[in-house]
Amino acid sequence: PQDSTLSKWLIHVEVRLKLRSSARYETIKNAVYAHVTSYETLYIPSTLEGWKDVPELADAVERIIVCESACPKSSLPVQEMAIQVHVYQPTDGDAFEEYGNNGGQQGEEDETMAATMCELPNQQYEGLWDSLIYADNVKMKLLDYIQATLILSDANIDYNLVSWNRVVLLHGPPGTGKTSLCRALAQKIAIRFSHRYSNARLLEINSHSLFSKWFSESGKLVQKLFSGITDLIEEEDGFVVVLIDEVESLTAARAGAMAGTEPSDGLRVVNALLTQLDKLKHRKNVLIMATSNLVQAIDSAFVDRADIIQFVDLPSREAIYDILRSCLCEMTSKGVVAGTDVPSLAQVRLYGLLDEPSIEDESPQDRSNSTGKRLLSLATSCQLQGMSGRALRKLPVLALARYIGVGNVVLSHTAPSHPSGLLQGAPVE
Ligand code: ADP
Repeated sequence: PQDSTLSKWLIHVEVRLKLRSSARYETIKNAVYAHVTSYETLYIPSTLEGWKDVPELADAVERIIVCESACPKSSLPVQEMAIQVHVYQPTDGDAFEEYGNNGGQQGEEDETMAATMCELPNQQYEGLWDSLIYADNVKMKLLDYIQATLILSDANIDYNLVSWNRVVLLHGPPGTGKTSLCRALAQKIAIRFSHRYSNARLLEINSHSLFSKWFSESGKLVQKLFSGITDLIEEEDGFVVVLIDEVESLTAARAGAMAGTEPSDGLRVVNALLTQLDKLKHRKNVLIMATSNLVQAIDSAFVDRADIIQFVDLPSREAIYDILRSCLCEMTSKGVVAGTDVPSLAQVRLYGLLDEPSIEDESPQDRSNSTGKRLLSLATSCQLQGMSGRALRKLPVLALARYIGVGNVVLSHTAPSHPSGLLQGAPVE
């Protein structure tokens, strides 16, 4: 959009409005742009604070962040940035609807949820993107890909010349954040493209429950779900992200049917799914994201349709460090752990701690260094055990339980002014 800026780095600034703010997006966008460009330098990524002195922003805005970008530097002069401001207001996190319930059927199976739908951006998914930590820039790569397809769609590119299917497949071990990443991506898209689409929705289909509960009916149900999706995308200024979780349970059936081990119902479901996917590929305002724990079990016809097949692995030692650090920082900020400064990975690298063995350091100035080393050695053992992100996020609870279990007292979150009862870095042990 800022044409004269071809040699500049594109930087996205996201502005979250307060829940009940009635401010006009355009007004806020202009005010934020003016404010942001008044800085000389901005850190990437960072959360801005200075805007609280601007009355019209202070009234309406909850948070302003400068998002991570392709720029390899951690700060940049504003003149070298092409800034895009995105203003959004997340909807209430509880606004989830059941979707595609087979209402015509009698009996307890009526309770089965074929899918859930929510409005995006959603309060529930705020912060999710930042909480997911991966090596190799996986998050940005996926976001860039999706943005690229949306730009091509918008430009009315001839599908015969440049083609894509709008299907992204994430696969890898359980608990590596695939489902969360899909939700976080959907939220990002809703924020980044709010100028283009007046509403965005996320429809989540859980293949496992769909398939196991509605075995003989699944084919019809898939059709019904997708015809619902087609209705949704008729509205051209609305964007729909369809998340098909555990897609292998849907599509493994066809292989089974061919091998003669599954009834032909399975075959019908998969065929229904593939036909419906093909119908969607010419629509501009839909994106399909699928997750799988077992890519070998997915029907190859489905895999062929995916434009991007991304393997999401167990976290690396560095990613584990960051995940545990984020847990520790959260507990420190809420007053459960006494304020220790846990160095960032960049600081750890800077101090050359990465390959040093963990040693106890008694000097108070080196406490932070020492915490870094201990956390790093913990990260190494977690990695050796092959722990997933999900398991890692539960670790602090277990550590706290153990700390309490040996007779320690932990005050509630009101504790910071009362350091005696606080946990002194126990989760690190
Ligand atoms: P999957 O779909 O791969 O089984 P989920 O999306 O259900 O995984 O992940 C469960 C939780 O585990 C997430 O909400 C997140 O808190 C945590 N988690 C998993 N992987 C990561 C990661 N790479 N970084 C941070 N948190 C993670």
